[in-house]
Amino acid sequence: MSTIDKLPLGTVVLKQKREKPLRRRHPWIFSGSIHSADANPGDLVTVRSQAGEFLAQGYFNPRSQIAVRILSWREDDVINADWWRARLQLAIDARVELVSYESLMAYRMIYAESDGLPGLIVDRYGECLVVQSLSLGIEAVKPLLIELLIDLVQPRCIIERSDVDARKKEGLDDVVGVIWGQAPSAPFIIREYGLAYPVDLLIGHKTGFYLDQRESRRWLLNQSLEGREVLNAFSYTGAFGACAALRGARQVVNVDSSHAVLETAREVMVLNNLDKVDAEYVTADVFDQLRAYRGAGRSFDLIILDPPKFAHSTRDIDRAARGYKDINLLAFQLLRPGGLLLTFSCSGLVSSDLFQKIVFAASIDAGCPAQITGWLGQGADHPVLLTFPEGQYLKGLVCRKVSA
Ligand code: SAH
Repeated sequence: MSTIDKLPLGTVVLKQKREKPLRRRHPWIFSGSIHSADANPGDLVTVRSQAGEFLAQGYFNPRSQIAVRILSWREDDVINADWWRARLQLAIDARVELVSYESLMAYRMIYAESDGLPGLIVDRYGECLVVQSLSLGIEAVKPLLIELLIDLVQPRCIIERSDVDARKKEGLDDVVGVIWGQAPSAPFIIREYGLAYPVDLLIGHKTGFYLDQRESRRWLLNQSLEGREVLNAFSYTGAFGACAALRGARQVVNVDSSHAVLETAREVMVLNNLDKVDAEYVTADVFDQLRAYRGAGRSFDLIILDPPKFAHSTRDIDRAARGYKDINLLAFQLLRPGGLLLTFSCSGLVSSDLFQKIVFAASIDAGCPAQITGWLGQGADHPVLLTFPEGQYLKGLVCRKVSA
């Protein structure tokens, strides 16, 4: 069974004074910290100091800036099939309580570095698993991991959605398809907190659905929105819009640049018997549409801004900040007194602190005094290791426009 047992064990030696992050258990070694490497791409390696001291074990990819991703801090760990099985099991067990307490059908079952499995994401959608392999090291053991997942979870099917930018940085091409079992027949419906959503696991965004926004959907489902007019900008398949409609919103406007996702948003309303609610589906660029609404003097009681990732590298941060400022400024201008703005950033490179400053600047420039009444973010199935803060990427603020 074990392909990994055959992997040669290489060695990576760190430059002097580059050991500190590793001693603090940060799971990445950047190429610039490496003194010498005796290993092939994808190999399991032992990482040592120049004095020869053992530091960690991980896997190696000289093509990536993240040249080693750490799997174990113990010298006596043998990284074989049993080791991978135990790691997978730990992540699966960590969700058991959450899943049963919340009756979750769809959730992130394995969250890469945060679960000690760098480069591996597995999302569970009922009896289907969707796997993303984000690194060469995971790619090298993928057949074994699939076997283990089948054994541990007994899913009906496993779909691979390794079609993310991160793979290019690892020198890997995209892989998408059903890799085990049969794809679920369309439409595949997931249920969450009393609502049903059709999900396309093969072509939907991410692994099909924004599982990371579950807590925010729940937050919305706890609001009383009787008679309110709601703008759901960057709506994707309209999940937030459906939650708002269920809570009594009088009107829901979904705006997205993709016509196809808005067609699904329409289906979501029908599927949940919410099609009596006045709903608009606007295919447009949100930046333009918000300006058009401002020009037309339109206003809303609740505005949701959930844009895609604006910052993909540190070089993008300034431009991303301007983008966030622009849409938040416009949203504040469209908000009625007492109205709420639910604003998100999923750019890991934009810190919570910076994001709050951007939203602050937007409210000042919009002449819209506001309070923060809530903080939102990724749920417990997307945990963040204290030693790996990079695992936190999604943050949201609930802002209330005050008249003072
Ligand atoms: N809120 C959604 C997820 C939003 S993902 C949910 O919870 O399900 C971001 C969405 O923004 C995608 O559907 C994408 O098609 C859309 N998008 C990206 N850039 C856009 C733009 N400039 N204007 C309008 N929509 C955009």
